[in-house]
Formats: sequence, structure tokens, C-alpha cells
Amino acid sequence: MTGEGPARTVLLAAPRSFCAGVERAIAAVEQLLDEHGGPIYVRRQIVHNTHVVAELEARGAVFVEELEAVPEGAAVVFAAHGVAPEVWRQAAERDLEVTDATCPLVAKVHAEARRFAQRGDTVILVGHAGHEETVGTLGEVPQQTVLVESVADVEALVVADPERVSYLTQTTLSVAEAAEIVTALRARFPALRGPASDDICYATTNRQLALAAITDEADLVLVVGSRNSSNSVRLVELARRRDTPAHLVEDAGEIRDEWLTGVRVIGLTAGASAPPALVDDVVSALRRRGPLTVEERVVARESVRFQPAVRA
Ligand code: SF4
Repeated sequence: MTGEGPARTVLLAAPRSFCAGVERAIAAVEQLLDEHGGPIYVRRQIVHNTHVVAELEARGAVFVEELEAVPEGAAVVFAAHGVAPEVWRQAAERDLEVTDATCPLVAKVHAEARRFAQRGDTVILVGHAGHEETVGTLGEVPQQTVLVESVADVEALVVADPERVSYLTQTTLSVAEAAEIVTALRARFPALRGPASDDICYATTNRQLALAAITDEADLVLVVGSRNSSNSVRLVELARRRDTPAHLVEDAGEIRDEWLTGVRVIGLTAGASAPPALVDDVVSALRRRGPLTVEERVVARESVRFQPAVRA
């Protein structure tokens, strides 16, 4: 059904929506539910998306903040964002059956933290304070790791030996902002060493590139994702930095008519934890408001797949 409003065009950014790490994490919970039924305990949100969590809850997943809430000996899944070694110790103490759904690309950053610290470096983690991924990464070698969130943090940084410093980044940062911070780190610490390949993951990078390719043509950008989804929030910021108004929506129900006044071209994307069906719903909701042309703009094809998560 097409509504009575003005004709509009949706530019659909591609890639968008689920990444390989999110698919793997959700599949880990689904498989346990298929095999054992509920309850299956999951520490923290398996991925940062309200709809994904609600659907799994309806099937018998029980999301907990900390492992104290999990009965001794029960099955528990660790979320895609990874955990500190301390959480593994707690799981062992409680005799829990752990399935680790940490994204392999987050696990790569943890391994780098351990390696860089072992060679005697101060590890500088570029990331957002309090995000579950940074909490987990900082927990690998807490006595040797410091967090920086901005260029101002870099300027204020004090390290044990400026000749022995390495950096890492959270996987879901703004590529542009992270580059600025790393440039500032290099200026302060010329001996700085970093990871052999970028820590910002392929999915984050591709979603930012895909959105950047359409923002200049769009009057408005809509990003489907949850408010605690780091990579989704970065997409909204990217559009706004390029002077295109942008909103983060959990789903089609959050679109406000006043956002669409005078808008003819809408850029549409979704963070890596947002289900593709929610994007389809947004397209349908826009079509109900008037004639709609949908054009997909593909900047990359993704073929990354990970091995399923297994019981540790
Ligand atoms: Fe892994 Fe990147 Fe997806 Fe996070 S966004 S789960 S790091 S692939």
C-alpha cells in the first residue's frame, strides 16, 4: 500500500545490518535453545540490539548482568563483546558450562593486548569508557593498559616509558576519529607500535564507507540500531559530521513524521547488530507515507564467516 505523501527515494547503504560476529553470537544462543530448551543464561546482551534480545528471551534465553545470577553448573553464553579474564575465573568457580560467543575480531584485540604487555609495553587502548568491549579488553592486562577516548586524553597521558608503548583500538570506532587519535599518539610517542592489521573491524569500516557514499545526496539519514550499539551511534555521528541530519531508530515505529518534512532523499542503513528485517520494516513504513523508489548503493561485498562458537 502506498500513502498519499510526496514521492521519495531511499538510498540503501550496503553493506548494512548484521555482521559475521553478530550472526555467530546469535546462532550460539539459538543452537543451545534448540538443543536444551530454556533457560539458557547469557551474560549481558548477546549483541547490542533490543529486538534480538527480546526474541531470544521469548525463546527461553535469560540475560544476566553478572555470573552470580547464574545457577551453579548451568550453561551460560558470553556475549559478542568479549569478557575480561576475571569473568572466566568466576565461571570456573561456579562450574559453569561456557559457550564463548566473543567475536573472533574482538578476541584478536585481546590477544594483542596480552602480547604487547608481555613485551613490556604500556598498552594504550583507544575506545569508549564503560563499553563492554573496552571493559573486557582493559581487563586482560589492567596494570599495564590505559584507555584514551580523545586527543585531549592523549595530551594528558603519562606512561612508564615513552619508548615502550603500543596502541589498540575498540573494534567499532569511527575510522576517522580513531585515525586522529592515533596520529596524536604517534606525535607524542614516536616509538609507538600498533597492531599488524586494523582493530576496527571490517564490518564497522564497511558500514561507515557505505554510509559516507550516500550522505551527500541524502536530505536525511536514518540508522536502524539500538542506543547502546557503538557502531550504530558512530554511523549517526558520521552523517551529522557531513552536515546531513540523522536519527537512530530502534525500528520503524520510532520514525517521526516531522523528520520527513521537505525530505525527498533518505539515506538508510543499519548497525552491525540490527536485524535486516527491521530495515525492511522501515522501507515499508516510508512507503506507507508516499510513493517510494529504493536504490541500493553497494560499496563492498562481505564474505566473512566465522566458525560456530563452541563450548569452552
Ligand atoms: Fe565482530 Fe565487528 Fe561484528 Fe563486532 S562489529 S561482532 S567486532 S565483526
